[in-house]
Amino acid sequence: MIRGTIIVATDICKACELCISACPQDCLEMSPNLNAKSYHYVQLKNDTCTGCVNCAIVCPDSAITVYRQAKPTTPKSAAV
Ligand code: SF4
Ligand code: SF4
Repeated sequence: MIRGTIIVATDICKACELCISACPQDCLEMSPNLNAKSYHYVQLKNDTCTGCVNCAIVCPDSAITVYRQAKPTTPKSAAV
C-alpha cells in the first residue's frame, strides 16, 4: 500500500477546485484562509492520500507536489 501526501504552493492556487474533483480519495478541501492573492487555497483534510498524482496532473498552475512512500506493513512471515 502506498501512502502519499501533497504540498500545495498556496500562493499559486487560484481556487479552481479541479483538484478536489479529481481526487479519488476525497482528501482535499478549500482552506477557510486566503492566500496573498485573496483566493482560498486547497489543503489536505485527512490522511487518506495514496499519492495517485491526479490532483497534480489536473492543476493548471502546477501548484501541487505529490510525495509517495510505502506504508509500513506487517512482515509476511508474521501474517500467516
Ligand atoms: S495524490 Fe491522489 S489521493 Fe492524494 S490528494 Fe492528490 S488526487 Fe487525492
Ligand atoms: S487545481 Fe490547482 S489552482 Fe485549482 S484549486 Fe487545485 S491547487 Fe488550486
